[in-house]
Amino acid sequence: MTINVTIFNEFLHERKIEAVREIYPDGIHMALAAALGQTDDINVQTATLQQPEHGLTEAVLAQTDVLLWWGHMAHDQVADEIVDRVQERVLKGMGLIVLHSGHFSKIFKRLMGTSCGIIWREAGEKERLWVVDPTHPIAQGIDRFIEIPQVEMYGEFFDIPEPDELIFISWFEGGEVFRSGATWRRGQGRVFYFRPGHETYPIYYQKDVLQVLRNAVYWAAFRGNTAVTGILNAPNMKEPLEEIK
Ligand code: ZN
Repeated sequence: MTINVTIFNEFLHERKIEAVREIYPDGIHMALAAALGQTDDINVQTATLQQPEHGLTEAVLAQTDVLLWWGHMAHDQVADEIVDRVQERVLKGMGLIVLHSGHFSKIFKRLMGTSCGIIWREAGEKERLWVVDPTHPIAQGIDRFIEIPQVEMYGEFFDIPEPDELIFISWFEGGEVFRSGATWRRGQGRVFYFRPGHETYPIYYQKDVLQVLRNAVYWAAFRGNTAVTGILNAPNMKEPLEEIK
């Protein structure tokens, strides 16, 4: 099965800040696309905030199996109409992988129903993401932990609903901890939040980080039962299967 992946990036830091452009000259979305697109069974396309409908038209979403979301400084510029559209696709079975500062995106907050607030610090400290669910397919091929030499810290309390599955917990040099890799089901869709990815560090070139994202793409792609009715539209089944006496 070929999985169609769309990578959304607000694509502002890379154009406005020289230090970020040096790391991601074509944008974070293109770096991720190059990495994920190396696998034959993953088709990748990209979308950015500046495109009409942010590149997330009905047609694009209709043929997207898994959507990756990177945003930071312009969450409020994402049109509510597009958020509605993405949410509906998730409820109908599209996978969604929310990256790093996407914790505050409209779509993630919508799907979680909580503030998704965190604490943070930018001090270039070390992070270890510990695998706390080695049975999970998203952790496949990863060592006991992922170590990232320099990161922006995110700490608890992370205001999310209790995850269905918790796969990574981060330790930071400064002492904080954070639920860095967690999953939820929403409707027929699978949602994965993954913390790494601050734009001023070359985190999306790190092999084990990319391996997690590749695993997450396979995990998030819909493999369920499309014959089940009642998703979103609550049909009135006037004609019973059996005669009702
Ligand atoms: Zn950041």
